[in-house]
Amino acid sequence: MNTPDGGKATYEQLLDMNAALRQTIAQQTQELQQERDKCDAIRNRFPVDAASWRGVDEQDLCAECGGSGTKLYSNTSTYHYSAGGQAMTLSVCDKCWGSGNKHKPWRSWKLADQQAQEVERLKKEVNDEVQTSLKYLGERNEKIKQLTDAQATMAKQAAELEAIRDTVGETEFALRQQVARLRECLVEYMTLADKICYAEPEYTQYHTMKTKASQALRETGA
Ligand SMILES: [Zn+2]
Repeated sequence: MNTPDGGKATYEQLLDMNAALRQTIAQQTQELQQERDKCDAIRNRFPVDAASWRGVDEQDLCAECGGSGTKLYSNTSTYHYSAGGQAMTLSVCDKCWGSGNKHKPWRSWKLADQQAQEVERLKKEVNDEVQTSLKYLGERNEKIKQLTDAQATMAKQAAELEAIRDTVGETEFALRQQVARLRECLVEYMTLADKICYAEPEYTQYHTMKTKASQALRETGA
């Protein structure tokens, strides 16, 4: 080895250089350790700093997730606690529900899921109720239509009966007029027969005719 001025180093010089190098190495090792300590301090404080960026103080950190709001579950069913596939799955923390704050959990995802299911169940129930009501209304409308049709038929039949009654009335009136004329004829006939009987008493057939006419007149007067 050479000395710094390029000459051949003596044994003593080599020993001095070696000591100087050891001192430099010791100093640099110490500096390196200090840098490592700084890194460790930053790393150790990182979760706390990260949580503070989320607005969570160190004393409020969720013990379950350390303030991250997420959690690694051992299967795919995550916070549902039911059977799931065998795979590690990252999902929302089931203690703070994502807030990272043990005192201020966010709205429970599990509860929200249950409520959503309940809403679906109620929707189905209401829908079934509506369908039943619509069916009932349909049947009721059908009955009302049948009644309306029956009412229309009855009204039509009543009008027809009214027309028939009018016809019957007219016929009855005509019959009465005919009977009245018949009576007039019979009275005339009787008067005539009476005159003949008075004038010609030997024609006895006119007596019989007069009697028959009188009888007919009584019958038509009934
Ligand atoms: Zn948590």
